[in-house]
Amino acid sequence: MIELFFPDIYIKSIFELPLEYFKSKKIKALFFDIDNTIAPFDIAEPDCKTVNFFKELKKEGFIVCLFSNNNKKRVEFFNRNLGVFTIHKAGKPGIKKLKQAMIKFGVNKNNAAIIGDQVFTDMYCAHRAGILAVYTMPICKRDQIVTKVKRGAENIVLNIYKKKKNIN
Ligand SMILES: [Mg+2]
Repeated sequence: MIELFFPDIYIKSIFELPLEYFKSKKIKALFFDIDNTIAPFDIAEPDCKTVNFFKELKKEGFIVCLFSNNNKKRVEFFNRNLGVFTIHKAGKPGIKKLKQAMIKFGVNKNNAAIIGDQVFTDMYCAHRAGILAVYTMPICKRDQIVTKVKRGAENIVLNIYKKKKNIN
């Protein structure tokens, strides 16, 4: 079932997130991958534009959570200027920590979305939990070695998806 890896929404970057659509669909909780979704994996802190964007998200009433498979140190340092909820070592595509967080935030599967750059972790995780899967193109070509290995297979999935949806 290749569809389990397909995005529901495909965007170029987090700044294209369809916030009005989210509101109309009552999507309240946004679970963000960090590495290559919000920032390059080897950049320790979000830039100004990103900090302001997250401020905006909070102001708009969204529950914002960093949802990363990376370690506590990476995630907490990254969050210094964001001040949002965090989940490190998220275990994606596992959904245990996601479900716990959704209970904590008081949202159900109709009110949550995952935003991420990997189909086998982020998109698959979203579909397993039954929540909205938002794909962002990876910020940069640099990747952790383990991610690099997966990209070939990722691209096959994405190319099939794009062909189906007529995305260039
Ligand atoms: Mg990522």
